Amino acid sequence: MEVKQFKAESKRLLDMMIHSIYTHREIFLRELISNASDAIDKIYYKALTDDSISFDKDDFYIKVVANQADRTLKIMDKGIGMTKEDLENNLGTIAKSGSLAFKSENELKDGYDIIGQFGVGFYSAFMVADVVTVISKALGSEEAYKWESQGAEGYTITPVDKDFVGTEIILKMKENTEEENYDEYLQEYRLKSIIKKYSDFIRYPIKMDVTKSRLKEGSDNEYEDFQEEEIINSMVPIWRKNKKELTDTDYEQFYTEKRYGFDKPLKHIHVSVDGAIRYNAILYIPENIPFDYYSPEFEKGLELYSSGVLIMNKCADLLPDYFSFVKGLVDSEDLSLNISREMLQHDRQLKLIAKNISKKIKSELQSLLKNEREKYDQFYQSFGRQLKFGVYSDFGSHKEELQDLLMFYSSKEKKLVTLDEYVARMPEDQKYIYYAVGESNERIDKLPQTELVADKGYEILYFTDDIDEFAIRMLINYKEKEFKSVSSGDLGIEADETKNETENENVENKELFDLMKSILSDKVKDVRVSKRLKSHPVCLTTDGEVSIEMEKILNAMPNNQNIKADKVLEININHEVFQSLKEAFQHDKDKLTLFTNLLYNQALLIEGLPIEDPVEFTNNICKIMV
Ligand code: ADP
Ligand code: MG
Repeated sequence: MEVKQFKAESKRLLDMMIHSIYTHREIFLRELISNASDAIDKIYYKALTDDSISFDKDDFYIKVVANQADRTLKIMDKGIGMTKEDLENNLGTIAKSGSLAFKSENELKDGYDIIGQFGVGFYSAFMVADVVTVISKALGSEEAYKWESQGAEGYTITPVDKDFVGTEIILKMKENTEEENYDEYLQEYRLKSIIKKYSDFIRYPIKMDVTKSRLKEGSDNEYEDFQEEEIINSMVPIWRKNKKELTDTDYEQFYTEKRYGFDKPLKHIHVSVDGAIRYNAILYIPENIPFDYYSPEFEKGLELYSSGVLIMNKCADLLPDYFSFVKGLVDSEDLSLNISREMLQHDRQLKLIAKNISKKIKSELQSLLKNEREKYDQFYQSFGRQLKFGVYSDFGSHKEELQDLLMFYSSKEKKLVTLDEYVARMPEDQKYIYYAVGESNERIDKLPQTELVADKGYEILYFTDDIDEFAIRMLINYKEKEFKSVSSGDLGIEADETKNETENENVENKELFDLMKSILSDKVKDVRVSKRLKSHPVCLTTDGEVSIEMEKILNAMPNNQNIKADKVLEININHEVFQSLKEAFQHDKDKLTLFTNLLYNQALLIEGLPIEDPVEFTNNICKIMV
């Protein structure tokens, strides 16, 4: 008989399963039962939406049979079954191989980690069994096949006889070792408790023949054992259960069982709505960013059930983009079962649910912010960028909704603060919400442009994300306070006299500044006296809408439109360097050219911009050194 090889990655996973030192081997049963339940879901859904398929509701159960004599455990269902190709494709490869591929070699060695966090489906059977046999007959197929494997060496597929559609998984349990007792997976009470623990919510009955005792007929003190079939699970899906009866662990287990992520949920939200529209939902805010979150492959969405039957794996219409990180499911009796994707988009009920859910997520995030700040910080590290993106996108139409969830690093608090906290702390004479843009907090700390604002004692918000300034420009103001960059032309701080003073100084030095401007030609729009500098000699600021940071970002985009910021070179006339400029202006025009270029390049460097000609720049420095 031909022995077929597993695909490389599957072999790796299998090896891991077989040699795993994982302590929770019992989860193999959860995986096999949930596969059986999925298979019944599939046939149930097909039958409901396709009249040519008839079904008997009594067939929708999962049976677990332990045989201690020959050390086998059998899990069987009358679900959709598998064809020969299905057996080959589904059991010869890992369905979720992508998720495994992204795990590092080291993480794979510590096998228990990935098993615990993610679950690995069918292959977990090899944690407890030497031989795994799958006998299956697919819906609409005449033949049945047997798939069998003793582990990583490969598997065989042979035709067999099977009366009805469905699947049987037979595990030949490993022999006991010193560390591990495999017998227990054949014991009634143990199996019952594993099923209760992990599969209680499975909506089909999980049946087992349970040994009971009764008085022997005709005797009043002699007992005999007999077998009786019992339903082990309560069959109430977790989302239909009473919140009060559920623990955090229940929700965490469900998150893992559903494979919503590798991590633990940061927060779960359980909603039961019984009004104009009825639905139950379990939503999760993940702790970590999914590895593909900011990639085009990422698909947002919630699972959608209609009266307990899964009708869509990822219903995108249930989540706005800015909450695309939310995982979970919605179950509603008010949705038609055979509704198509196209119809769903226009479904009024679905829109209502989506709206409710958005509101709920927002209010939960707000309460997290208010009551569990550390957790919110953690959330924000992962998904804050998505919220800021939400403020900016769709022409700012969600900004009202999201603005209270935003946080930025504060120059004063040295941590993330909300806009509300900022505004509440503003001194009376402060007119604007000030922000500074840069690569990192450390860099912004040293920006000369922040000097005056910081000196006034005003708090500055640090923008280090690409999206920050764009989002804030969309917001325009918060609680009637306008946002203002510390690099913008008018800071709105000076008193009137000093304003006149600077004007006078600009007039006084007009010829010098004009000459400097012509030396720099089209590189700057203006050269003028700085009102914001205290100890630094120069800085670059901008007039108009586009800031220097925005110019950087826009020009890094693929559809680069060569957008330029109107740059202004600001000179600190109280700095000693200004005297040198004045002298050079009077006696040595070549020197003025040299100084002007040097100062301009210094300003570029401070701003984190590349200087146009680094060689010339260093030559110029050498010139003044000798
Ligand atoms: P997952 O359930 O996440 O897809 P598994 O490794 O648990 O991954 O199962 C792999 C695939 O094998 C399933 O997607 C399904 O197509 C198939 N399968 C497993 N068990 C059954 C079953 N009892 N009936 C029908 N198909 C099954
Ligand atoms: Mg599975």
